[in-house]
Amino acid sequence: MNRRRSGSTRDGTAIAGPNEALFDESRWRLPVFRLILPIGVLIAIEQVAIAPTASAVLAAGFAAALLFVLWLMAWHPKIAASRWIAPLGDAFVIIAAVTGCAVDGLGVLVFHDRNAAIAMQTLAFWVPIIALYLNLVLNRRRHVLALCLATLIVLFVTAHVYAQREWGVPILLASVTTFIGQIVITPGVALIFSQYRSRMSSAVAQLRIAEAQSMTDSLTGLPNRRSFLNDAKTRWNGETAVALLVLDIDKFKTVNDSLGHHAGDQVLIAFAEAMQGWLPGPSFGARIYRWGGEEFALSIAMQPEAALDMTEQLCAYIRGVVLPFGVRITVSIGGTAFDPDESVDSAFQRADKALYEAKSEGRDRVIFLAQGRGY
Ligand code: GH3
Ligand code: MG
Ligand code: MG
Repeated sequence: MNRRRSGSTRDGTAIAGPNEALFDESRWRLPVFRLILPIGVLIAIEQVAIAPTASAVLAAGFAAALLFVLWLMAWHPKIAASRWIAPLGDAFVIIAAVTGCAVDGLGVLVFHDRNAAIAMQTLAFWVPIIALYLNLVLNRRRHVLALCLATLIVLFVTAHVYAQREWGVPILLASVTTFIGQIVITPGVALIFSQYRSRMSSAVAQLRIAEAQSMTDSLTGLPNRRSFLNDAKTRWNGETAVALLVLDIDKFKTVNDSLGHHAGDQVLIAFAEAMQGWLPGPSFGARIYRWGGEEFALSIAMQPEAALDMTEQLCAYIRGVVLPFGVRITVSIGGTAFDPDESVDSAFQRADKALYEAKSEGRDRVIFLAQGRGY
């Protein structure tokens, strides 16, 4: 048994956050963005090369320059980390693509410009890629996506019919199958894929919510016993020091007996809030769980002596807290150091034994039980 404390260093090891989800956009947004921008620059340059009219040079040159600058910026670590870079790039690529198609389409249909028809011919080649990109970035706005794709199809088909009749220049490839493949199937598949992806993401989101709920105590909102066991398996792996503590409110039955069960619930909620407010938080290695009833479990990623010091401070803090209905409580805490080589169960039994001793020695105190490794 060891109750001596030393100067506490609350520098617990940071605990890793939850795994990133399979459909987390932040995973693919930036790589796709970095890939697509040079394609945008290429398209713009190609358009100028094919139909070097003054307006095309101006519009495409400007677009190419801006896309290139954005692309360069996307490699700067600070800029790449900011949340606005990918949406900004998306917006820009969409505006560039839509403007490019519109300028060429207007050139053909309004200004009867044969060069614009030739430029549009090559632009049609990029329609599947534009459609796929639109699908990626407009996944959550499927109506906008459908409208963009429909506009593209109508524009290209109309321009195709017009240019074919006026100058014998087919904008879309002459064969019906390639035409269908280029203009109908790809955007269609993109739409279906988008629907599938959005359903999958909402299923994954629901799964996450359900998972979070199953790990949370419904009364206090604290992580529950299941969460504790889960953390023991995942977070404590590789931790050099984890102190395990079991905390039990002293004589809580008297609160229920005198104020009623509902009031007891309010006291428990406020007590949980007070403890969470006091503890330094998961990023400092301290985490509190509701074990069940008026019992709580704590894991603190610290050396046992520092953890003991902190727990004694917690005990003193709780003594001074005024809970709802003017209730004041004390707690008994049993603690031990978790040895990575032993089972959580055996460490927990030791902490429970320490708690029992704290109760039998008069309550309102912390007792740490040493384990095999010698504290
Ligand atoms: P000890 O110091 O020995 O721990 O005394 P105690 O009264 O705290 O312990 P005991 O195990 O005798 O009683 C625990 C009480 O906690 C009884 C139970 O009604 C109450 N309790 C457990 N869970 C809840 C809950 O969710 N809400 C309320 N209001 N009371 C609860
Ligand atoms: Mg109790
Ligand atoms: Mg109890």
